[in-house]
Amino acid sequence: MSELHALFGGTFDPIHFGHLRPVEALAQQTGLQRVTLLPNNVPPHRPQPEASAAQRVAMLRCAIRDLPLFEIDTRELERDTPSWTVTTLEAWRIERGAEQPLGFIIGQDSLLSLSKWHRWQDLLSLCHLLVCQRPGYPTRFDSPDMQRWLEQHLAQDIRQLHQQPAGHIWLADTPLYDISATEIRRRRHQNQPCDDLLPAAVIDYIDREGLYRD
Ligand code: ATP
Repeated sequence: MSELHALFGGTFDPIHFGHLRPVEALAQQTGLQRVTLLPNNVPPHRPQPEASAAQRVAMLRCAIRDLPLFEIDTRELERDTPSWTVTTLEAWRIERGAEQPLGFIIGQDSLLSLSKWHRWQDLLSLCHLLVCQRPGYPTRFDSPDMQRWLEQHLAQDIRQLHQQPAGHIWLADTPLYDISATEIRRRRHQNQPCDDLLPAAVIDYIDREGLYRD
């Protein structure tokens, strides 16, 4: 089977165990060898992350220090246009070719809002979508059309993810972590502990930088 690689985009303001643990489980389940974290550029007209781009990357570095599964790619931060996943995937395909099996990891909440993504219909021609469960979100689309689209593209077997470069959706059976970056930022602002929510090295960095404090 060909080596399956996956990209995982997010704001990561900050990265937390709800990002890391489900993806580690997904990797074990699917034989995923490598996951590239893609911190995204938030366009100026949108609510800005509290941490700067450099701080978000530094937190990623702290988080993956002992996790060889992960690497970081800062390409989306290096351009001043919005982070469109489809554009990043097209650039990736130009660099790496069309044949390598490639996944794009999202949580269940992102799957449910996929139809708002720029050129979302093109995504499956570029990658597989690997979906991690996220507590508090329905398992089905409200829209019958979207539900039909999902069912048409569901992978029946992990081997399809390795044998074909793109085109399938994998609903992974990943552990549930009821964690969000929003909740972490809220707790920090209210001087509440976040010990179980993100890696200690990231908390140390946040403390050193005085992030997420009023
Ligand atoms: P925020 O609270 O600031 O909106 P977030 O915690 O949702 O942030 P993002 O960086 O926006 O984190 O998420 C990046 C990706 O990780 C998205 O695809 C999202 O669905 C997924 N994700 C985030 N948290 C979880 C979680 N607890 N379980 C599963 N997937 C998650």
